[in-house]
Amino acid sequence: MDLAFGPEGDEFRATLRDWLADNLPDGLDDSDGDPDELFERRRVWNAALFDAGLAAIDWPSEFGGRDASVLEQLIYNEEFARSGAPGPVNAIGVANIAPAIMTLGTDAQKRRLLEPMLRGDEIWSQGMSEPDAGSDLASLSCRATRDGDRFIVNGQKTWNSLGHRADWCQLYVRTDPDVAKHEGITCLLVDMRSPGIEVRPITTIGGSLDFAEVFLTDVEVPVDAVLGEVGGGWHVATRTLGFERAGVAKLALMLRENYQRLLDDAGPSLRADPINRQRLVARYIDSEILRLLAQRTVSAAMHDRMPGAEASVIKLAWSTMEQRVAETAVDVLGIEALLGPWGERLAGSRSLTIAGGTTEVNKNIVGERVLGLPREPKAKG
Ligand SMILES: Cc1cc2nc3c(=O)[nH]c(=O)nc-3n(C[C@H](O)[C@H](O)[C@H](O)COP(=O)(O)OP(=O)(O)OC[C@H]3O[C@@H](n4cnc5c(N)ncnc54)[C@H](O)[C@@H]3O)c2cc1C
Repeated sequence: MDLAFGPEGDEFRATLRDWLADNLPDGLDDSDGDPDELFERRRVWNAALFDAGLAAIDWPSEFGGRDASVLEQLIYNEEFARSGAPGPVNAIGVANIAPAIMTLGTDAQKRRLLEPMLRGDEIWSQGMSEPDAGSDLASLSCRATRDGDRFIVNGQKTWNSLGHRADWCQLYVRTDPDVAKHEGITCLLVDMRSPGIEVRPITTIGGSLDFAEVFLTDVEVPVDAVLGEVGGGWHVATRTLGFERAGVAKLALMLRENYQRLLDDAGPSLRADPINRQRLVARYIDSEILRLLAQRTVSAAMHDRMPGAEASVIKLAWSTMEQRVAETAVDVLGIEALLGPWGERLAGSRSLTIAGGTTEVNKNIVGERVLGLPREPKAKG
């Protein structure tokens, strides 16, 4: 980002850089090692971040953050990217679930749940998707039936990131099948050790265990585990915005990092080849476009304009550009590159156009809300 940071920003950057230099241990990105050990090392790192007040600087200070300005968030993202320091282990929890709890949760929920989430002592997953409800989340069918002061939950969730490690799940269930489908959904904060929950890890094409399927059979969940209102689950899912308003900058920084890796791996001789030069320039242009898109969004956030449909534009651009840089790496470095980290990046990048809203769905949003095209026809039946 080329934004003016001023003396206060410079001071914050220097403090952060010194702290990272003194405290960041080796071995936090060792993807060849034992994944459980790596996860534990990252948890210890997460606790160190928490103790230094650096786990989520965008969070309000009453919950362990530092009420950071957009500029400080930008500097934080840049310095973490520069040093290769990972953020908190509960990425979805800290960015998405916690803001919902802070905004809509009871005092008891905030007191009990937020600190262990931010410190990484308790792991969170998000249970939205089901085998027959992904993009069309409102059609979810995992059922919760009221029985006195508890709900009895039955159903299945899938693609729960960190589901196999989770202590808690932000679970979306159908509490009323007789009203319009968006109105019959409730969000529950579920203890994953509850009897009746079975978690089956899913192994990805890259061989890692990133997600799980979750099966719920007669699981008892107390009514005080409802987040927001009974029947207000759609509101929880769609209305809670995270505090981190410089998050898009991370995407541009990640893409730039991968582009730089590709340049380094290619070395002078492959870079000098005229066809490779054209390929690499195309990826450079991608990364510049994303940097400018991110800068525009961050600038809007600094002027208190809420991000709108441009978030979809950035998601679309970033996910396809990450796929292109991995494909270009194999074109430039040759087929052997598939055996190393570029093979993992190429396989992993396929998920980027699915997670957090698919490319097709984002194109619909851009078409309808940015370009003002006619709405997508609804399927009959
Ligand atoms: C890395 C990763 C992490 C994830 N983490 C989680 C998680 O933690 N918790 C969770 O609940 N879920 C998670 N998911 C699931 C994710 O939210 C869903 O995969 C996503 O919403 C798409 O749903 P689906 O897979 O059921 O595909 P579908 O919705 O069935 O889509 C299938 C195809 O149809 C297209 N399509 C669907 N609707 C339309 C439409 N209206 N117009 C045009 N095309 C359409 C889609 O673009 C896609 O190509 C994760 C997924 C990935 C890849």
